[in-house]
Amino acid sequence: MTAIFNPRKLPILNFAKSHGSLAGDLPLAQLDRLHEFQQGGAEVGDVHFQARGEMRLTAAGTPAPWVLLSATTQLTLVCQRCLGPVAQDIAFERDFRFVESEAQADIEDEDAEEDVLALSPDFDLLALVEDELLMDLPASPKHEVCPQPVKLRVADSDYQEPEDKPNPFAALAGLRIPKK
Ligand SMILES: [Zn+2]
Repeated sequence: MTAIFNPRKLPILNFAKSHGSLAGDLPLAQLDRLHEFQQGGAEVGDVHFQARGEMRLTAAGTPAPWVLLSATTQLTLVCQRCLGPVAQDIAFERDFRFVESEAQADIEDEDAEEDVLALSPDFDLLALVEDELLMDLPASPKHEVCPQPVKLRVADSDYQEPEDKPNPFAALAGLRIPKK
């Protein structure tokens, strides 16, 4: 019989020992912190995730639990060039090694190439999926080619035009003296 695992309460050690696997789609709205970045009005997609558990021998020859995790989704963010909505694919694929305690994880995570986390009998795998997707959000999302030509050129690319600010040139237009 194949064990059925709950991704919100995952017994990591059992999952790894039984070579468990989990995959699923969940609505983006269920991941609050990530969903906040989604622009209103845009179509909301799903988050697809996949996890596999396995035991691997450490350098010292003792078996350690690992979880191989990947996820993909699409978010609609604000283009930093034209301020229009831009759909961005977000994805990650990462391996996690689990150790006895939080304190041990902190020590080992410093030196290890992989991410090291503390074992838990009811690990929230979906919170980890969300953390990793948040880390992979582009710092400065942009269209490859903006659909609208950019009206104002701003020398400092980090500068972001506030969306609701009235255009200062609109006021000046009223003062313009008509040409004869
Ligand atoms: Zn753009």
